[in-house]
Amino acid sequence: HRHLGHATPESVTAALEAGELHPDSIDWPSLADYRAVGGYTLLADCREGRVSVETLMQEMEKAGLRGLGGAGFPTFRKWHFVRAEPGPRYCVINADEGEPGTFKDRYYLEREPHRFLEGALVSAWAVEAEALYIYLRDEYPGLHRVLREATEELEQAGLVDPGYVVLRRGAGAYICGEESALIESLEGKPGKPRHRPPFVAQKGLFDRPTLVNNVETVYWIPVIHKRGAEWFASQGRHGRKGLRSFSVSGRVRYPGVHLAPAGITLRELVDEYCGGMADGHRLLGYLPGGASGGILPASKSDVPLDFDTLQEHGCFIGSAAIIVLSDQDDLRGVATNLLAFFADESCGQCTPCRVGSEKMLTLLERPEWDAAALDRLSQVMMDASICGLGQAAPNPVLGLLKDFRTELADQNVIVRG
Ligand code: SF4
Repeated sequence: HRHLGHATPESVTAALEAGELHPDSIDWPSLADYRAVGGYTLLADCREGRVSVETLMQEMEKAGLRGLGGAGFPTFRKWHFVRAEPGPRYCVINADEGEPGTFKDRYYLEREPHRFLEGALVSAWAVEAEALYIYLRDEYPGLHRVLREATEELEQAGLVDPGYVVLRRGAGAYICGEESALIESLEGKPGKPRHRPPFVAQKGLFDRPTLVNNVETVYWIPVIHKRGAEWFASQGRHGRKGLRSFSVSGRVRYPGVHLAPAGITLRELVDEYCGGMADGHRLLGYLPGGASGGILPASKSDVPLDFDTLQEHGCFIGSAAIIVLSDQDDLRGVATNLLAFFADESCGQCTPCRVGSEKMLTLLERPEWDAAALDRLSQVMMDASICGLGQAAPNPVLGLLKDFRTELADQNVIVRG
C-alpha cells in the first residue's frame, strides 16, 4: 500500500494528481495482507488461552503504554478498573479525533486498519466486552468505508460475530471526543459531558462499565506484544518511555505525523524529524497539545515533550499535536482563533465555559488586553467548568500573558496590568 512519507508541496500535488488524497481512494492492506505478516495471531492467542489477560496487562505496564488520546492514563490500569466491575461490560474506541492539529489516528486508520482492529478486539477481549463500539469522526468519511469493509472482512472470515463491532459516526462536535459526551452521543442523546463520579469505567455506555480507549493506544497493543515491552519502553528520550506519534503542523519544512521518542524536545523534533523550520521562518513559539495544551515560547524549546512534564509550564501534551509558530504569525490572531473555536464548540451546559469563552474572546478583540480581567476570568473557567473544554480554554491566553510579553509588544498588542 502507498505511503506518502513526508508531505512536501510536490508530493501532495503528485498525490492529488494520482487521485491518492481523495478520501475514497485510500489503499489499505486487506485482511489477507495483514494475516500474511502475522496479523490476528495475538487475538487468536488471547481467545485460545495461550496469552492470559494478566500477562498482557503486565506487558502493557512494562511497556509504559498510556492513553494516547490525551489523558495519558496507564492502559493496563484502565483495563483493571473495568474488569473489577460486574458485567455486562462494553468497549468503546474513541476515533473522534477532533483536537485542532491532531491527525495521527487518521494516519494509522488509513494505513493499517486491521492492526487497529486487532488491538481494539484484544482490548474488548481483555474486559470481556459484550460489544465493541467505534465512534468515528464524521469528517473522516473515507475511513468510515475502510472500517466498514475491514469489519465485513472479519465477519466473513469468522473472526468476529456479525454485529459485535458497531461502527458509529459522530456529527462534527468537538466535545464528543470527551469520553462521557461521546457515550451520551452513542446513546442517541446530545453530546454533553457527564459529571464524575461515577466514572465511565463504572457507569458508562447504557450505564454499564465501559472501557474507552483511543485509536492509537490500541493500535500499539499488537506491536508491543510482537516486538516486546522492553523494546517499546526503551524508545524514549530524556528519561521517558515509549514512542509518540507527533502530529506536527505550522512553520516547519516537513509537517505530518512523526513517530519519535517520548520526551523528545521541540528543538530536536523540528531539527531531526521535520527538516528544520520552513524557509524564512524563525521559531516564535509552539502549542504542544493542540488548542487545549497551552503555548510555550521559543526559549522553552528544550523541555521534554511528554505527559506529566509540561505541567510546571502550565501546559500539557494531550494528543501530541505540535503547532509551530514563527515570527510571521500574529499572536492576537492565534488567541482569538483559539477562543472562537472554544466558544463555538462549548456544549453550553455550564455557565463558566459557555459565557466565559465568549467573554474572553471579546476581551481579546479589544485594542488593549486587560491582563487582570483575563486572569480572573481564566481562574473562574478553570475552577468551575464541568469538563476539560472549559477548564483548558484559557490555557493559550495564560501562556501568552506569561511568556510572550515582549513578542506581543513587538506586534503592537498592548497589555495592561
Ligand atoms: Fe460543556 Fe464547556 Fe461545561 Fe464542558 S466545560 S460541560 S463543554 S459547557
